[in-house]
Amino acid sequence: MRYGFFSDVHGNLEAMQACVLDFKAEKIDKLFFLGDAVGYGPNPDESVKLIGDISVAMLMGNHDYAALGLMETEYFNQYAAESVGWTKSSLSEKAIEIMSDFSLTHELDNILLVHSSPREPENWHYILDMEDAEENFNFFTQRICLVGHTHRPYIVVKDESGSVVLSKQTEEILEDSKRYLINIGSLGQPRDGDPRCCYLIYDSDDNSVRFKRVQYNIKDTQKVMAKVGLPEYLIDRLAVGR
Ligand code: ZN
Repeated sequence: MRYGFFSDVHGNLEAMQACVLDFKAEKIDKLFFLGDAVGYGPNPDESVKLIGDISVAMLMGNHDYAALGLMETEYFNQYAAESVGWTKSSLSEKAIEIMSDFSLTHELDNILLVHSSPREPENWHYILDMEDAEENFNFFTQRICLVGHTHRPYIVVKDESGSVVLSKQTEEILEDSKRYLINIGSLGQPRDGDPRCCYLIYDSDDNSVRFKRVQYNIKDTQKVMAKVGLPEYLIDRLAVGR
């Protein structure tokens, strides 16, 4: 079985559509969405509906939470707060209904899915360094935990002796004796310096995980962002993946 995991679409419909074609080309059997369908990008409504059509499970992200009015945006940066306000006004009832069913965590085959961190999913902590990663291994019992939220893909491995190391690979064969904390990157707003969409493929037949990068028409997304009046900073960052 081939599983696809994607996160942080952020209303980037162009990116989402390019990945839907790639999911087909990669013969993905089941798709899981790890949160932040909306925020920053220009097509939140269409993105939510498309995610709803293709996913077998969907998680709540902090931007989704804010757009549903379930939390205040005072700790959001200026651009995020601005786009949440705009997003709220552009969501249809159908999209709100789909988002209201997003869950904080999901489990399958000894894999935990959560948007931010297994420590406190509802408090939206960022796992930014090895210290954060090491601590978070204590907050899930499954062999593998997949997260999104920082928009930067990584694989952290904990071995039998308890030592925690950062894998430099973009592809890894998972070993039964080890545990893994994997950030699956961002589909719609990557921040690791590579502006292409990022998602994760897990093949349960050979126990492999692989980051997949997908080219999409960034200029088209930027044009729609400018048209709806989203901040220039958000428009510019898409092209550089920061
Ligand atoms: Zn995000």
